[in-house]
This record gives sequence, C-alpha cells and structure tokens, in this order.
Amino acid sequence: MQRYFINEECIKDSYIYIDAYNHKHMQRVMRYQNGSQVVCILPSLKVYIYEIIDIEKGVLKQLNEIEENHELDVDVTLIYGLPKNDKFEFVLQKATELGVKRIVPFLSQRSLIKMDEKNFLKKKERYLRILKEASEQSYRNCVPILEKPIHLTDIKDYLSDINLVAYEETSKQGEHRNFHQVLQKDYHTITIIVGPEGGFDQKEIDVMKSMGILECSLGKRILRSETAPLYMLSVIGYSRELTR
Ligand code: SAH
Repeated sequence: MQRYFINEECIKDSYIYIDAYNHKHMQRVMRYQNGSQVVCILPSLKVYIYEIIDIEKGVLKQLNEIEENHELDVDVTLIYGLPKNDKFEFVLQKATELGVKRIVPFLSQRSLIKMDEKNFLKKKERYLRILKEASEQSYRNCVPILEKPIHLTDIKDYLSDINLVAYEETSKQGEHRNFHQVLQKDYHTITIIVGPEGGFDQKEIDVMKSMGILECSLGKRILRSETAPLYMLSVIGYSRELTR
C-alpha cells in the first residue's frame, strides 16, 4: 500500500486534508478513487490506514492504526564530505533506503564544491523531497534529518556512542579489523564519516582522532566517495538485522 508522510497542518481530528504535492500524486500518479486506502505516517511517527473519502478535494479519513517498525535499532549519523551535486543527491536517496537517521554535509578540505549556507538553502527543498520520497518508497517510519553543512571542528557536535571515519590510507596500510570489532560493542548511536572524491587530508584525520574518532578501512579496494557510505550503512544493517 502506498505510504505518505503527513505534515501537522494537514491533520484535523480524524481527517487529513492532503497537501497539493501529495494530492497530485494520489490523483495523477496513483489514480486513486474514493474508497482507496493508503498508509499515512503522522508527525507523531504513528502509522495509520486512511481511506480517501473525497479525491477531488483531497480528504482522507482515519481507519485503524498499524503497528510496524522498519527502522534500524541504532541511530546512524552520516557525516559526508561534500562531493559533486548529483553524487550527493544519489547518496541522500540510497542512504535513506539503507536506514540512515541523520545526514550532515561536511565541507572538507578536498570537497570539490564549495557550498556555502546560502547555496545549500537554495537546494535544500529539493534534497528534502528526495529524502521524503526515498523514505516512502523504502517503507521507512521516519524521514532522515538533513543538517546544514559543517566544518571540521563542528564534527564534535555530531558524535555518537561509536564514531568511525573511513580512511583510505588505513586500508592501504592493511588495517582491516576496526570496523568489524567496533560493531560488536553495545551501542545505540553511531556516527560514520566519509570523505569526498579527493579523500581526506592527514591533518583532518588527526583532528578527528583527537575527538576520539576511530579510523577504519572498508576493505582492500578503494571505493568511490558515493559507494563508501552505502557500504558502511549496508554493513551496519547486516550486523543489526541479518546476523541475530
Ligand atoms: N582519492 C582517494 C580516495 C578517496 S575515496 C585515493 O585515491 O586515495 C573517498 C572516500 O571514501 C575516502 O575519503 C574514504 O572516506 C572512503 N573510502 C573509500 N574506499 C575506502 C577504503 N577502502 N577504506 C576506507 N575508506 C575508504
């Protein structure tokens, strides 16, 4: 059943007066009729079945609540060295499918695009739409949070129980055990940090280490910057959901 994330202002008692964007989707894409049912996730993160009672006006009536949780049992924050724009959008979509909770763009020394806050805000609406659609499509119970771009020293504000930076030089030196070992610990939150196309500067890694962040390898091959976060999220998903 099709899923929609609903904003607070659309809800009135047991009715939803759907926003223009979702309304268009229901009418034009899904071609729903009165009586069609959809899954709606409310701002409380509760999940309900709703019935469309007026497709022309976009009115839905609440039926029953359903118990379901498709979220990872740990909160993953991805701090991602900003790559070129289309790669960033690709990672937003795929990381959402893989269960990321929060994405923090990181203006690293070798980021090819120099995105300032104004530039980011211009694109933010489009990014949020990508996150929302990927969340609906992948049966998420919430939409990941997108933070504004940060600099190296701000990383300390986004740390978790476990903190890992994927560092290509660690891989080249043949140290491959850290990622697996750290995932055996008891934790509820984890921050993973990935560099842009040009990789990390050793000085950046030194600052991160001084914050208690552990460097790790992602295997013997060097992955493109858009592959690396997806690999890390897949490994975390595997260790939390498929091995217990
Ligand atoms: N241009 C660099 C590679 C950058 S890859 C070089 O040739 O060395 C982009 C980012 O992906 C890296 O900064 C790192 O965070 C991550 N990454 C890719 N492959 C990795 C690996 N095998 N081990 C650890 N991190 C890796």
